[in-house]
Amino acid sequence: MTKTSIKTGLNFDASYSEQLEGFYASSSGEKLKAPKVIAFNELLADELGLNYKDLSQDELAHLLTGSIKAEGSNPFAQVYAGHQFGGFSPQLGDGRAIMLGEVIDSNGIRRDIHLKGSGQTPFSRGGDGKAAIGPVLREYLLGEAMYALGIPATRGLAATLTGEKVMRDKLLDGAVVARVASSHIRTGTFQYFAARGEQEQVKLLADYTINRHFPELTESENPYIALLRAVRDRQAELISQWVLVGFVHGVMNTDNMTISGETIDFGPCAFIDNYDENASFSSIDRQGRYALGNQPYMAQWNTARFAETLLPLLDDDNEKAITIATEEIQEFTPIYQKHWLQGMNNKIGLSQIQSGDFELANELIAALQVENVDYTQFFRSLSEVINGDVQKTYELFENTDKFEKWYKNWNNRLLLESSSIEATIESLNSVNPIYIPRNHLVEEALQAAEEDDFKPFEKLLSVLTSPYEERTGLEKFANPAPKGFGPYKTFCGT
Ligand code: AMP
Ligand code: MG
Repeated sequence: MTKTSIKTGLNFDASYSEQLEGFYASSSGEKLKAPKVIAFNELLADELGLNYKDLSQDELAHLLTGSIKAEGSNPFAQVYAGHQFGGFSPQLGDGRAIMLGEVIDSNGIRRDIHLKGSGQTPFSRGGDGKAAIGPVLREYLLGEAMYALGIPATRGLAATLTGEKVMRDKLLDGAVVARVASSHIRTGTFQYFAARGEQEQVKLLADYTINRHFPELTESENPYIALLRAVRDRQAELISQWVLVGFVHGVMNTDNMTISGETIDFGPCAFIDNYDENASFSSIDRQGRYALGNQPYMAQWNTARFAETLLPLLDDDNEKAITIATEEIQEFTPIYQKHWLQGMNNKIGLSQIQSGDFELANELIAALQVENVDYTQFFRSLSEVINGDVQKTYELFENTDKFEKWYKNWNNRLLLESSSIEATIESLNSVNPIYIPRNHLVEEALQAAEEDDFKPFEKLLSVLTSPYEERTGLEKFANPAPKGFGPYKTFCGT
């Protein structure tokens, strides 16, 4: 590639790097000889205003790996810290990623385009700055699957082979994922400056964050208390969505928690088949710190770490600031529970929360936990139960006693609802997905891709793009892993 920069059509507007001196280091992608795009999200590219139709495949591949500069972009790596499995690391940062830039998309919305796997940066700490094809495709796939499920997440714009090998437990094809988020500000970004005692920088970041994500809060009596509440509320809602769909993030370290409330960094994540609140798939999470049912507690803990960084902004009097923060953090649990219960009610065809609903939801969850029932299939089957066909649901249970007991209570509760059966069925099928990223299918697709066969990946992606719409011929995508698949373990996406 002889060009030194490419016209992309993207409307770059660098607010982060212009307003936040000291929060990043300039960094560009490694120069590559022959990168090759293997997955590309045309709809998202259109939304972003990327003129991919005017670019050659070669130009696009160079652009999406950071190997050639996009006109108007000044890429950089962000600095951040983070609590990793409870222990504080004061200096992390984008060790293998760069911000290609912020763009104003075709709807006037500001979004980050981030390239992960693009080579070493000043924050690589001895790492190679690279990513392998499997984790890159996983991140692309999971981001798109979450988006289609209606859960805030970074989105997959592209996956591109670098044309070079990376050394992991074996030599693998190197790749870069281009992902899009409303921002990449993390709890860990605040922590980096707070831990260094640089309170002015924390204030600068808080003001920037309010402007970018919560402009309505500038009018609040104390915008920083309002910011803490807003971040807490988004986290609580996000985690309720994870739990409701059976998603285990796997590495909820504070550097992996966005302030915008988007799911980020799909490393050792997985979806449950059988319901199990202790489900934990990550090989590095030996204590189950980030297990399915622990996620709300961990999110609250993370939000407390965020609150700590804001203390001097909450009140001049430190004691008072701690009291304010503590009260706000204590609210996390009831807010989470309200979202979870509303979501659970929707999953069982109830519109409004009424007294007794929490008990009803918990009775069901307890039955699913004991009976090892496939979580996704169970909820999807409820629309048939409502329609009078309970057979399929029964078959999910080895012992139906607990379910039958719940079923009676549920039927009584349904009498208080006013919607027609048709409307309830439609509503159930719009919140209970039939297709989720089943671990065995994700593994199968990534393994095939490692061997240069992208068909299973493309098929799975297309299935997951419409998770609520049942289609004939896709039965295998709605089934849990075959028994022979064994207990699932995921490995950190490095
Ligand atoms: P992650 O587990 O992907 O969220 O990464 C945690 C931290 O390790 C981040 O600061 C990453 O940038 C850094 N990191 C992970 N893998 C690499 C790598 N291969 N080279 C350099 N830094 C890395
Ligand atoms: Mg991370």
